[in-house]
Amino acid sequence: VNAQASARWSGPGATSDGRRVDILANVQDGAGAQAASQTAAGGVGLFRTELCFLDRDTEPTVDEQATIYEAVLDAFGGRKVVIRTLDAGSDKPLRFASHPDEPNPALGVRGIRIAMHDSGILDRQLDAIAQAAAATGTAPWVMAPMIATPAEAASFAAKVRSRGLSPGVMIEVPSAALLAERILSHVDFLSIGTNDLAQYTMAADRQSADLAALTDPWQPAVLALVARTAAAGAAVGKPVGVCGEAAADPVLACVLVGLGITSLSCAAAAVGSVGARVASVTFDECRRAAEAVLATDDPTQARAVATGILG
Ligand code: PEP
Ligand code: MG
Repeated sequence: VNAQASARWSGPGATSDGRRVDILANVQDGAGAQAASQTAAGGVGLFRTELCFLDRDTEPTVDEQATIYEAVLDAFGGRKVVIRTLDAGSDKPLRFASHPDEPNPALGVRGIRIAMHDSGILDRQLDAIAQAAAATGTAPWVMAPMIATPAEAASFAAKVRSRGLSPGVMIEVPSAALLAERILSHVDFLSIGTNDLAQYTMAADRQSADLAALTDPWQPAVLALVARTAAAGAAVGKPVGVCGEAAADPVLACVLVGLGITSLSCAAAAVGSVGARVASVTFDECRRAAEAVLATDDPTQARAVATGILG
């Protein structure tokens, strides 16, 4: 697919034979959401709220948070927006929330685990999201990062539902992918974070350049967990998206569609090329590529078989 085709692509996302796939943008603030709304993105698949607060020493108030969330919701004027609650810790430390001095922060108290330890920050953030939803007359989806167990998903879902919003969770830890069916009994949707899912599946630091071959999102083991998660969603008719870097690779995006993924969320700059590539193939081609990729042993073979089928 050449640059002209991707420049022309205007959504909504679908394969050439009409299988619907939402193509969404990852954003981190109101300005980014404004910019993303000028692309063909159908909405926001991942609003990384922690990135709004990297420079804060103290927790922002509910009103401060609500103002920031409103800017993102307003930019997309009622279209789909998935807000992720604070993913503090490890590669994204927040001074007011992270647990300092852990020997291994990637395996430490990060993401939803902070709320399991002290629920106040999460409760206030959910209040702020509910306030922003009411002020904008929108109904954002709300998801938690770093869920590892069905119990964590159930606890988060109850808090979100009590505020009248729709709960989901990220699948970034292999345990959550393996129990996706049970997690889905508590939530309305799943979103797979392939950056962390690769890190935790391959036991390789996502920030290590030396280990980049292991954290490659084309790793068949990572894609097997994606397949498992997508199948769990399909079995109960609930959406399963991908919002990690994998979704920004146009060929891999088609493979993800073939695995049963229903939405792809990537950097705004990649929305056009991903949407155009998905629109250039049939769902059957995506399915055949997905099946072939799952039968390979490594990322090099996986890319080769997928490119052979998808062109
Ligand atoms: C991921 O882990 O794939 C993800 C989307 O979240 P983040 O990159 O913010 O950890
Ligand atoms: Mg992550």
